[in-house]
Amino acid sequence: MHTPDGHTRTCGLIGNPVAHTLSPLIQNHMAQATGQNLVYLPFPVAKGDLGAAVRGALALDFLGLNVTVPYKSDVVAYLAEIDPLAERIGAVNTLVRCQGGYKGYNTDMPGLYRAMQQDGVKIAGRDVVILGAGGVARAVAVMLLERGAAGVHILNRTEDKAQAVAQEVNMMAGKSFARAYALEDYGRIGGEDWLVVQATSAGMHPHVEDAPIEDPEFYRHVEIGYDLIFNPGVTRFMKLTKSGGGRAYNGARMLVYQGIIAFELWTGTCVNQSTADELCRMMMQALGQ
Ligand code: NAP
Repeated sequence: MHTPDGHTRTCGLIGNPVAHTLSPLIQNHMAQATGQNLVYLPFPVAKGDLGAAVRGALALDFLGLNVTVPYKSDVVAYLAEIDPLAERIGAVNTLVRCQGGYKGYNTDMPGLYRAMQQDGVKIAGRDVVILGAGGVARAVAVMLLERGAAGVHILNRTEDKAQAVAQEVNMMAGKSFARAYALEDYGRIGGEDWLVVQATSAGMHPHVEDAPIEDPEFYRHVEIGYDLIFNPGVTRFMKLTKSGGGRAYNGARMLVYQGIIAFELWTGTCVNQSTADELCRMMMQALGQ
């Protein structure tokens, strides 16, 4: 690893809280693996200080920043430019220096897409079931639209929220692409061999005994269950998917790839497959999995 010197570039994560983030592990390992003279640090930003933090990073010549909860939408107000995909998703998690400030990107969804490709999960032409209607579920629906899915079925505990997301995505699509349901109404979906993206927070540490849907009948239709949760490494949703005869994946690869895409934007380097696999292993180890 480079010992920091007069040429060291700084990147970091802004959010609140940031103490439990795995991003420094991921980013500093990539800097080492690709020989970049770069350090990556977490920076907790207090409520009301977001603008000052972005201006400060610019003044201090930071190469780039990641942005996490609760600032992924609010940060848009402090950007010089925004990537069209991030604008459609309405959330920015990566800032890259540009003329006069930072350009905002969303690398979460390209990260999920790359992770799915790596896991052999095909999207194009397929109907996809999304569980959840929060910020991430909405972003997943937009990503699936951009990547040529046939349509999405959005199921949420609070049906109104699923309806609002479906309406917004349909406006974007200019056609009927998304349909909304209450979680228990999955019987109305039809078809077999579902690809299900689990984008609720049910089952996330420490509530590891939760799953958004318990009924084994649901899981009999699931060919692929793609959980976006990475802690625990095997969620109850994944166990239920496997019990029903399906394949199950967690969100670790998505987390790693959103970091890789940010790193590639900052440095112009390409991170190879063996480094990506190594990062997944390191991350699971860091989580005690
Ligand atoms: P959010 O906006 O807070 O939305 C949470 C969603 O979960 C809502 O749809 C909520 O339903 C649903 N939910 C919560 N508890 C539930 C329960 N017990 N049963 C059924 N549904 C429940 O959260 P978000 O920002 O979209 O994040 C969602 C998930 O994405 C998180 O679990 C996080 O782990 C994951 N994520 C993964 C990555 C990655 O890199 N792998 C990155 C970001 C996020 P209601 O609307 O009814 O409340």
